[in-house]
Amino acid sequence: MKRGTPHRALRDALLRWYRRDARDLPWRTTQDPYHIWLSEILLQQTRVATARPYYERFVQALPTVQALAAAPLDRVLKLWEGLGYYARARNLHRAAQLIVADLGGQLPRTADAWQRLPGVGPYTAGAIASIAFGARVPAVDGNVKRVLARLFRLQTPLDDRATRAALWRLAEELLCEKSPGTVNQALMELGACLCTPRTPRCTECPVAPWCAARAAGVERKLPIRRPRKTVPHVEAIAAIIRARGRHLLTRRPAGLLAGLWGWPGTELAEGEQHDSALRKALRDAFGLEIVVGDRLATVRHEFSHRRLRLHVYACRLVRRTPRHARSAGANWLSPAELERYPLARVDRKVWAAVMPAPAERLPPPVPLRRAR
Ligand code: SF4
Repeated sequence: MKRGTPHRALRDALLRWYRRDARDLPWRTTQDPYHIWLSEILLQQTRVATARPYYERFVQALPTVQALAAAPLDRVLKLWEGLGYYARARNLHRAAQLIVADLGGQLPRTADAWQRLPGVGPYTAGAIASIAFGARVPAVDGNVKRVLARLFRLQTPLDDRATRAALWRLAEELLCEKSPGTVNQALMELGACLCTPRTPRCTECPVAPWCAARAAGVERKLPIRRPRKTVPHVEAIAAIIRARGRHLLTRRPAGLLAGLWGWPGTELAEGEQHDSALRKALRDAFGLEIVVGDRLATVRHEFSHRRLRLHVYACRLVRRTPRHARSAGANWLSPAELERYPLARVDRKVWAAVMPAPAERLPPPVPLRRAR
């Protein structure tokens, strides 16, 4: 039997619905593989409505892979600011440089070749290769997993190895030779618009006649998920230090926010004193002796993997040691420069919290008292 044939009627119904009802999105009207790649990276972990303005800004600012490769990382991170998961931006930039340096600026055409680039996993590789180049490869994202788990009534947890393999196999079986990219997009669209996590709209669904979960009345019980791990809570402290109208910011050296700028500080161990921990962090990392003054704000922020409570203190600079002059990754920025630098959302929250009346609230001078 020809591949894809068993599901032909289902697929035809899905495609008819997609061609009639799919949302009008800017990356669906382009065949430019660079723009399609960009959209797929932006859409990882991000809702369409959030990603859309970023996509439009990116395409305008850096319209080609050559422009992206030549841009400084700070510019790329600034364009990404507020979107989170900044590794995506760093990998996108690095991949563009590799494409220009090693592939003569030509974007790969196969899913295997895409997967050799940073930040491109099996889903993204399948999506780009099928949508931009018509390759017959599946692309299984979270939406597609949910649709397939319901359509074929998969009753094992989604993240089981065997379930994952079954999902990719089923997604591949659904593809056709002519327009595999459209089938992939139609499955994603179905998951985003009708086969939603909590309240699937089965009465409007084009593939309802073939849906095993719907037939058994268990569509709301699928897919099976393992219970989520609890997200750890982290306490941290940050210093607002002003000297001659400029504020000290530091470039994050590693981790999820690597490359972004933020307020200097540190995470707290349990029971650690804010005052001494902040002075030690500034001395050790940047060669700055400070006095810790008022607590200006406490900012809460949720990352995907942890919950942060950040205590922000006004600090007065007492002395710069020679080590400060040598320390990389620190810069004194004017408020205007601060707006132009790429900051993580949590650091923008801090700025918004401490700056309503900067002249009144920030040192010097600060009425000093010991922090808790
Ligand atoms: S019939 Fe319902 S559960 Fe089945 S695919 Fe359609 S929306 Fe999802």
